[in-house]
Amino acid sequence: MSRITTNEQRLWDSLMAMGEIGGTEKGGCCRLALTDLDQQARDLFVSWCKEAGCTIRIDQMGNVFARRAGRNNALPPVLMGSHIDTQPTGGKFDGVYGVLAGLEVIRSLNDHGIETEAPVEAAIWTNEEGSRFPPAMVASGVFAGVFDLEYGLSRADLDGKTIGEELARIGYAGDQPVGKPVKAYFEAHIEQGPILEAEETTIGVVTDAQGQRWYELTITGQEAHAGPTPMLRRKDALVGSARVVDRVNQIGLEHGPLACSTVGLMQVFPNSRNVIPGEVFFTVDLRHPDDSVLSEMDAKFRAYCDQMASELGLELQLEEIWYSPPVPFAEDCVSSVRQAAQALGYSHRDIVSGAGHDACYVARVAPTGMIFVPCEDGISHNELERAKAEDLAAGCNVLLSAVLNQAC
Ligand SMILES: [Zn+2]
Repeated sequence: MSRITTNEQRLWDSLMAMGEIGGTEKGGCCRLALTDLDQQARDLFVSWCKEAGCTIRIDQMGNVFARRAGRNNALPPVLMGSHIDTQPTGGKFDGVYGVLAGLEVIRSLNDHGIETEAPVEAAIWTNEEGSRFPPAMVASGVFAGVFDLEYGLSRADLDGKTIGEELARIGYAGDQPVGKPVKAYFEAHIEQGPILEAEETTIGVVTDAQGQRWYELTITGQEAHAGPTPMLRRKDALVGSARVVDRVNQIGLEHGPLACSTVGLMQVFPNSRNVIPGEVFFTVDLRHPDDSVLSEMDAKFRAYCDQMASELGLELQLEEIWYSPPVPFAEDCVSSVRQAAQALGYSHRDIVSGAGHDACYVARVAPTGMIFVPCEDGISHNELERAKAEDLAAGCNVLLSAVLNQAC
């Protein structure tokens, strides 16, 4: 296991320089996918990679691959990467850290004159956030065969502009086919949760990503006047919804500590203070890393919805709109990360990713691992997102070791 390390200051300076492209007054970043700002950030990354001696290839989804040649370039590359698009009120670390950590690994290999057997690549995945072009992770999804190219290119923003059109406009509609053999893929990312910081642990060895089931519910009762309608004659859609919200929360607790269950959006009709609510629309999000437990949570949730509807005489429409199975990362890659953290003397723990990442799709077609580093108060998707230079460098050092372990 190599003990060579990366350059903390250079990584930090690169992150700060990149963060200026779309930088906000509150210290965050607003760099939506395929805007002029995304183009500037891509151009900067490409120029840095060329300075580091890399060749650049861009595929038809605009994914960018910067390659540092190996001794045997017929071998599939060891790939590192993440995304540089942000939420509208995003931070300077979510995504871009994994991209620039990849570049820092390449720069460090150059500094130390290290040759690898397989080529090593740093990648940008297009439109990970999905905030301009839903759904999220669409380009890594095409790479992994989850979506076809036609679907990916035709995703549109609120103005009707498509990914394909915007890629062409900013000069990143590449000609390479989407998808290729990859020896191993590593993604470094801020945790976006509070666990590492709370436990004063530097490295999260990501073993799995949670499975997710998303639902939309409409509960229909009867609108009526809040005064003259006796309690026992009411069909109050909000009372039924409130019961479901509480049950959803209990289901998460019953399957703790790894389960998560959330109602994040609710619309009440007619939403008037003296009208008994006649209809409520809301969403439910259930997550667990073990598919059998996720199925149990699903069954409990559905059974309760039926029970509630019949008890209260309400109509229920329940639709599952998205299912993403749990992703176990490759044992070989996970142990490369764990051993690297160990050898470098960093505190570490196994951790499950609660969020989706490009790695979750890439894992379907290549052995994949992820490295988490702490972020302040676990805050992300927020302009206040912060991470410490030393933690970011630690994650980058682990990335370097894990990559050398796979590429040598
Ligand atoms: Zn991210």
